[in-house]
Amino acid sequence: MTNQLLIQYFHWYYNEEEKLWAKVKNEADYLAGLGVTGVWLPPAYKATSGNVSVGYDCYDLYDLGEFDQKDTVEVKYGTKDEYVDAIRTLKEKGISTIADIVFNHKAGADELERIIVRKVDPDNRKEFISDEMEIDAWTKFTFPGRKGKYSEFIWDHQCFSGIDFADDLKEEGIFSIQNEYGDAWEDVPSHELGNYDYLMFNDIDSRNPAVRQDLKNWGEWYYKTCGMDGFRLDAVKHISADFLNEWLDHMKNTFKRDFFVVAENWVVNDVDQLLDYIKITEGRMQLFDTMLHHNLYQAAQNHEDFDLSKIFDNTLVKTHPTLAVTFVDNHDSQPLQALESYVDFWFRPLAYSLILLREQGIPCLFFPDLYGCKYTDIGFHGKETEIEIVGVQELHELCRLRKDCSYGLQRDYLNHPNCIGWTREGNDDIDCSGFAVIMCNGGEGFKDMQIGIRHAGKIFIDALGHCKEEIQINEAGWATFKCEHKSVSVWIAKT
Ligand code: CA
Repeated sequence: MTNQLLIQYFHWYYNEEEKLWAKVKNEADYLAGLGVTGVWLPPAYKATSGNVSVGYDCYDLYDLGEFDQKDTVEVKYGTKDEYVDAIRTLKEKGISTIADIVFNHKAGADELERIIVRKVDPDNRKEFISDEMEIDAWTKFTFPGRKGKYSEFIWDHQCFSGIDFADDLKEEGIFSIQNEYGDAWEDVPSHELGNYDYLMFNDIDSRNPAVRQDLKNWGEWYYKTCGMDGFRLDAVKHISADFLNEWLDHMKNTFKRDFFVVAENWVVNDVDQLLDYIKITEGRMQLFDTMLHHNLYQAAQNHEDFDLSKIFDNTLVKTHPTLAVTFVDNHDSQPLQALESYVDFWFRPLAYSLILLREQGIPCLFFPDLYGCKYTDIGFHGKETEIEIVGVQELHELCRLRKDCSYGLQRDYLNHPNCIGWTREGNDDIDCSGFAVIMCNGGEGFKDMQIGIRHAGKIFIDALGHCKEEIQINEAGWATFKCEHKSVSVWIAKT
């Protein structure tokens, strides 16, 4: 049995000279060596900001860097051929590709339409704050550069439930579009702001059967073209869950196979919202454990005042471990981004130990933690800010430990506010499997933990090299393990 390990293979400011599709292809061997089993790649289709777009302002799902649209043929990360080639190479190395799918919105329409809208209160989307009004809006997508190849479907205002700009009035706001499906928002999982169907750009209206059909056709085309093994669904709390269920079932039934599916449902205050989503999607999707991310962030911010024994409280990995994808940070939480809540550097080795070395959850690495990065952007204070993220020094070893040693019975000692630990007993099939993890957020820590009789008498050392001493496991399979001040140690059998 292999331990699954994912990586988010990009971040908001990816700016290396090597294009991403080429880089991930060239790094496939390295990633396989780390034990990576799945690579999440960013949205691969043409976006309205062309070859500088991260990918979430998507324009044409059928343009994977193939057509001259939005002033560019290739997308930020390369061409369609390079994308397909990268996925094929990863697969040859035993690594699945998880493609990023944005079904909430489209951006960068080609033509204006005269449409009827009503303005809504941005803080309560159920409240209309204008009468019906006719406006010119960018709602027609004809994709002139693609000329109907792969799909002749033209998107117009019947395909959208809302927009944010009245072109003739030069007025911004949130406008509910009147189409054949009414002028009410779709029923979506999030009830924030009254109804959180509308997020940004042109909000896709999945009540329109032609929209559903084209997105299914697209899914078939996308899979046949690229052969990915999974999907990461963007912004699902703003999308009809019925539609996503239907789309996923369509893919599964059409291709007679399972896809790995993980959804982004950003919730940091209430794990029940994640559990509710699991109910309405009937377990079709894994979810990112945003609640755990929040706890990791809080733990890093509050140092020894954070109660480490509560690190898994209210998390998905604790309440529904089989559907939890655990992560430390992502492209939205990284410094200078919209949901900035970056887990401070000192805590990152601890955070990664908490996701990589436990039985529960499928962990997802974040690109900058492996490769580092440097970028500049305007921060919240309106000042240009330079950020440098250095890779997590311990990450390679933690990945190796996950791959080679993280097996067998897990015993938890999450029992002290400043010092917690757990052991994996290992098993007979895998030499050197089993370890003891101990971490603390204050002064140095000691903890008596049982690792199992199979290790009795063995000498253990700290695989991370923070503690230099050796520890002997006693006849009953116990030892007093140690870690340094605000640090983590992983004790393994000395070979
Ligand atoms: Ca929506």
